[in-house]
Amino acid sequence: MYRISSFLILSLSAMSAMGVGTVTSPDGKLVVTVDTDAQGKPAYSVAYDGKDFLLPSSLGLVSNVGDFSKGLALSGMSDAVAVSDSYSLPGIKKSHVDYKATERWFTFSKDSSPVFELQFRVADNDVAFRYRMLPQGETRSAVILDEATGFTLPDGTVSFMAPQSKPMGGFARTSPSYETPYGVDEPMGRNGWGEGYTFPCLFKNPEGGWTLISETGVDGSYCGGRLLWDDKAGCYTVGFPQQGEMNGLNSVTPGIPLPGFTPWRLVTVGNSLSPVVETTAPFDVVTPKYEPSRQYTYGKGTWSWIIGMDGATNYDVQKQYIDFSADMGYNSVLVDALWDTQIGYDRIAELSRYAASKGVGLYLWYNSNGYWNDAPQGPRGKMDNAIARRKEMKWMRDNGIRGIKVDFFGGDKQPMMQLYEDILADANDFGLMVIFHGCTLPRGWERMYPNYAASEAVLASENLHFSQGSCDTEAFNATIHPFVRNTVGSMDFGGSALNKYYNAANAPGGSRRVTSDVYALATAVLFQSPVQHFALAPGNMTDAPAWAIDFMKEVPTLWDETVYIDGYPGKYAILGRRHGDTWYIAGVNGLKEPVVVEISLPMFAPGQKVVVYSDDKNLQGAVKEVKIDKKQRLKVTMPCNGGVLIKGIKL
Ligand code: CA
Repeated sequence: MYRISSFLILSLSAMSAMGVGTVTSPDGKLVVTVDTDAQGKPAYSVAYDGKDFLLPSSLGLVSNVGDFSKGLALSGMSDAVAVSDSYSLPGIKKSHVDYKATERWFTFSKDSSPVFELQFRVADNDVAFRYRMLPQGETRSAVILDEATGFTLPDGTVSFMAPQSKPMGGFARTSPSYETPYGVDEPMGRNGWGEGYTFPCLFKNPEGGWTLISETGVDGSYCGGRLLWDDKAGCYTVGFPQQGEMNGLNSVTPGIPLPGFTPWRLVTVGNSLSPVVETTAPFDVVTPKYEPSRQYTYGKGTWSWIIGMDGATNYDVQKQYIDFSADMGYNSVLVDALWDTQIGYDRIAELSRYAASKGVGLYLWYNSNGYWNDAPQGPRGKMDNAIARRKEMKWMRDNGIRGIKVDFFGGDKQPMMQLYEDILADANDFGLMVIFHGCTLPRGWERMYPNYAASEAVLASENLHFSQGSCDTEAFNATIHPFVRNTVGSMDFGGSALNKYYNAANAPGGSRRVTSDVYALATAVLFQSPVQHFALAPGNMTDAPAWAIDFMKEVPTLWDETVYIDGYPGKYAILGRRHGDTWYIAGVNGLKEPVVVEISLPMFAPGQKVVVYSDDKNLQGAVKEVKIDKKQRLKVTMPCNGGVLIKGIKL
């Protein structure tokens, strides 16, 4: 629980007018300054280690109750108080978090009447803030027309971001679904494909500092945001959804009761990528919205769809995958689209019983629609309304189904965010876990919803099946996700294929995997999600190297700790994750040339023997024992499209 004295909040109204306020992190290095300019426009700036990370950036809300973005006075501020929290969360990058921050509230007034408070939480590398809009006279509800929050980065900053796609486009008019390619090292001043960028957004400033911008705590009480470039102001701002989302229905603006909070805006800063990779900010400032109805089971599984596509969603193939999962020691199988017509409810129930006899649980795919996409895949019309959904979920509970994968959502408007929440809350009533695909970014959901497992919200493994071009850029893209998308939430990528070809016969035809087997193993560690359905095929038991299959049997999906080791988005990525006493250091190379680096591994003792999986220049993998040197360093080589994996017991 947060330790905040309630009298501090109550005493806000008693504050006198003041000019400038600061909030300083517990370690003193991160300083946020809050101020107003001559026009009464509120602004904040962020400095870390004596360097500017965000220059004065606008604050404020424009609502249908009034324009609270200018003509304001900073009329009060609370004392800066230390807040702390300690929580365990199995499904994120780190199983236990001790959160420490400084909290301070600022009150802004217009014509001497308080209009909103700003709540800042400043941890050692993370700034979180949100607005609490206040009732105005008898007005106790508001529509937020615009949020003035800006992010002014130093000149010369470059970005690592994925463009937001236009609404009702792409496959069966299912966009936006956070499935666009990242640009790396791009200058500021662009606006993606005209619609800004999806969170999170990563920046590198000219002094070498890194800044990650995102949001958290978004649920049915607000819309999801995006990052827009404002050419006039020369900075990024928070944008609301696009009018065309949800087939053009519903408002792009959110409504809130008064007093009412907006979601948290997040800014993570540091002199290296460590704070970005290791941040828990999305989870630190949110709280669980309900109790779990049961103990949820995480773990590994397989799915036929990625190799076999729609035709493989039949009884015999699913039974084969259940056997395969059981042989791998996995605990789930994901039965993808069209099971309702190609297998049927009665035979799914039969498969579920068969799976249970082998210690395997089934996830079932659902279409989210609704009136917001044309996707023909069934089951359709089951997840968009409470009556059908709860009836379906009762059937699932009665038949021992483990969870659901709901696909093809309709954007980020407030009613769509409510649908995500309603699916999660209903699923919890029936003891089901939830995976979202074709969906928005999860925003603190691992902590808010105990049965939430993971979201796609990335150009995921399906594209490797769909096109050779995606295979050819697979390693390049994999070097970005650990530093951007996956830093703020579980990422259901569905990868680690060991097939050479994306077809059931594993024979020439269709797209060909160009990455190494070590690379496949490394991404099982690099891509974090507490539930993983790997793109493995039953034939891999005999056509893949034994050491690769053995590793895929043992690789954990839950982590006690995650650390940045080395890398740069778009070039190569090396992270360390610890499960119990064992560290797994995983790297992949997205460059055309080999990467040879000496990495520091302080988690191992000088002279300690570790197991290293590495590639030769022809991408042939091998496993050997290697000694860490006296300075706790190890030289690693990763060829183009290759990887490295180091496994050892912690010091
Ligand atoms: Ca997808």
